[in-house]
Amino acid sequence: MSQDIYVIIEHLRGQIADISYVLCAAARQMAAASGGNVVGLLLGHNVKDLAQDVAVDRVLAVDDPLLANFVPDVYQQVLANLISASAPRAVLFGDTSIGAELAGALSVQLGLPLVSYCRNVRADDGRLTYVSQLCGGKVMVEGELPAPTALVAMVPGGYQAEQGKSTQPPPVETVAPPALAAGRITLKQYIEPESGDVDISKEAILVSVGRGIQNADNIELVRELAEAIGGVVSASRPVVDQGWLPTTRLVGKSGKRVKPRLYLALGISGAPEHAEAITDSQTIIAVNTDASAPIFDIARYGTTLDLLDLVPVLTEKVRQAKQ
Ligand SMILES: Cc1cc2nc3c(=O)[nH]c(=O)nc-3n(C[C@H](O)[C@H](O)[C@H](O)COP(=O)(O)OP(=O)(O)OC[C@H]3O[C@@H](n4cnc5c(N)ncnc54)[C@H](O)[C@@H]3O)c2cc1C
Repeated sequence: MSQDIYVIIEHLRGQIADISYVLCAAARQMAAASGGNVVGLLLGHNVKDLAQDVAVDRVLAVDDPLLANFVPDVYQQVLANLISASAPRAVLFGDTSIGAELAGALSVQLGLPLVSYCRNVRADDGRLTYVSQLCGGKVMVEGELPAPTALVAMVPGGYQAEQGKSTQPPPVETVAPPALAAGRITLKQYIEPESGDVDISKEAILVSVGRGIQNADNIELVRELAEAIGGVVSASRPVVDQGWLPTTRLVGKSGKRVKPRLYLALGISGAPEHAEAITDSQTIIAVNTDASAPIFDIARYGTTLDLLDLVPVLTEKVRQAKQ
């Protein structure tokens, strides 16, 4: 058993995922309280040099051709070994499609408690207290982090990714993998998002629309506003699932991560799967009739006006101002 905090360094196609830095930021604070070190776990093939800027005390790198692509049961074999061998105080995963899949399976396999949707972990008098956001971010739950070892799947929002970066490359220790069996899933092809549409991850102004828009016809109002302010329309998942906008415009866990100068969220509640993809926006403005919607937790400005009343007036005002 140790007081170390393990961080799963998530990466895809040669790039460290932003959530990994968020985890490092959380782990640094936790380790200061637990008295342990922050240890990054880097699984893959020929990726040893990827972890140059993660703020950890050391990296344990596990290299094997079978780890070249993310295959849940193969990654699980390696992590189960590492975690049971050293019993760290906590293991942090991103609450992403990769991290959540691993954390759930390992919790069952190793019989360890899992804290999901964790937003932050505080140190109170040496004890670690987690805050998790449930029900799409509407309910915050607080509790003591189970001991001796807890698995924690973290959503973004509680820490700045920058706090988890370092200019000093950490020492990397190579760890031999256990004898690995090939997984039941094979990656056949990486499918790039459809081309031919705008790339919302590169746009400076996004006018994003959620279920609050109510029907496909109302999207036109939003298009007019976007055009007036020189932006592009994007959307939350219900809007795309209804077929009102194409998948290329989807912001979120199953869509794109965006970092515009302005993100105008119209009728979007701010569920974690959406919110996690907009935290790098410079300014978020939210329009939502529900004052307790979680989007207001991350928005710099907001109003509870009905978007259907506000949007046409706003478009008109912008047009007048430009004349
Ligand atoms: C594995 C997984 C992946 C997911 N991936 C994504 C993803 O990539 N992107 C994504 O967006 N979601 C994703 N989701 C779904 C996500 O959990 C939410 O369900 C979704 O983001 C909710 O979209 P919304 O905010 O538009 O709708 P709702 O949550 O229904 O919110 C609509 C909001 O509009 C407000 N409203 C209603 N009428 C008006 C009005 N007239 N004026 C102003 N405000 C109004 C309401 O108060 C409400 O807050 C995923 C879920 C899962 C489980």
